[in-house]
Amino acid sequence: MFDPPRCPHRNCPRFRHPRPGFYRRHGSYRPGCRSHAVPRFLCKSCGRTFSRQTFRMDYRDHRPDLNARLFQLLASGLGLRQSARLVGLSQRCTELKFRKLARHLRYLNSNVRGPFPREIRFQLDELETYETRRSTRPLSVPVLIEAETRFVVWAESAPIRPRGNMPEARRRAIAEEDRRLGRRRDRSRRSLIRTLARGARLVRDHERVVLETDEKSSYGPLARKAFGAERLDHRRTNSKLPRTTWNPLFPINHTEAMARDLMGRLRRESWLVSKQRRYLDLGLAVFAAYRNFVRRRFNRDRASPAELLGIVPRRLRWGELLGWRQDWGRRSVPLLGLDRSGAAARATSA
Ligand SMILES: [Zn+2]
Repeated sequence: MFDPPRCPHRNCPRFRHPRPGFYRRHGSYRPGCRSHAVPRFLCKSCGRTFSRQTFRMDYRDHRPDLNARLFQLLASGLGLRQSARLVGLSQRCTELKFRKLARHLRYLNSNVRGPFPREIRFQLDELETYETRRSTRPLSVPVLIEAETRFVVWAESAPIRPRGNMPEARRRAIAEEDRRLGRRRDRSRRSLIRTLARGARLVRDHERVVLETDEKSSYGPLARKAFGAERLDHRRTNSKLPRTTWNPLFPINHTEAMARDLMGRLRRESWLVSKQRRYLDLGLAVFAAYRNFVRRRFNRDRASPAELLGIVPRRLRWGELLGWRQDWGRRSVPLLGLDRSGAAARATSA
């Protein structure tokens, strides 16, 4: 039997401060897409009703039964069009579902909280890609992982200025776009700061933090600021070293290769320019959730990265990531739910 942990209406006092017995039962309803009845509840404080479904990620979804399948396809390198064909949804519907799934997964990733129960070795790198047009709209994507477990802490994209070879035609194209869209600003520093801050939140109480990067000069000051100079052990590797398994940065290089492999189809020519980067970020959220919770660390392993870090007790199935909604931050029901006493099974919001 489901026990509502709080009132789901954000402006009700019982949302922030639920009390035992704040609700009473209020019948049930039988949704068209499910065979069993869903119980309804009435909040005694605000007088509004809600159901178990209000706490679920697929609240108000059309065809919730297809969500897990779509998540599988989108996390496996397939584009939206092909995914739409395979699950039998319209392209528009698939796109909306992708956005909702991905936003949910992004909340889920950011609800992961420390302190991590073990020694942490972070690796940071930036991969380069682009939105719509390779020659004029490059992006930098900082990726932060925990190297032992391969847990993806954070990844997001930032616009950067075009650089490299500048033949006349390219120079003209850049000038033309700058005129039309406004000068393309370099936002990579800001997104690096945000990404490092995600990592810092997970190791607040650690006495020592190891961070491994290449020798890019801006990493040092930013990392000292994020983690604190006195406890940071920053190890640098020359990026000209061969990128073999012996390279100290192999874990991050390997993660980036996997991300490219599983997300290549997300950058689609048909998307509106202003929306491009946002969708890449949503794709990154899908990748990170799959990598952290569903996939084994290595093929020979049984455990997922999140399991190895003690965030969840076992490797999760695709559908299990799409259970409780995660958009309430620490007030969300933890990934694997609550037991009768209201305690969390150790999961994202624990
Ligand atoms: Zn209420």
